[in-house]
Amino acid sequence: MLELRPNCECCDRDLPPGSAAAMICSFECTFCAECVETRLAGRCPNCGGELLRRPIRPADKLARYPASTQRVRNCCAGDGQPVPAVARAQA
Ligand SMILES: [Zn+2]
Ligand SMILES: [Zn+2]
Repeated sequence: MLELRPNCECCDRDLPPGSAAAMICSFECTFCAECVETRLAGRCPNCGGELLRRPIRPADKLARYPASTQRVRNCCAGDGQPVPAVARAQA
């Protein structure tokens, strides 16, 4: 099940579960549409994978399967070395 992380890992803006601007990769690295477009060129800076729009969980399901409240900055599979997403994107 998707965690539905509450923030963009790049700019840290809030991405509530109902946000149509949330984008995720296959590891659920989560970014806002603006970062994906303007900074990340559509690729996850952590794993290099595709970033696609995160599906919105229906409100009645959210009550039973709530979204994650743990804010994440630079998640991901990879080398286990946490590197700020922005720094990796520029590398
Ligand atoms: Zn962002
Ligand atoms: Zn990723």
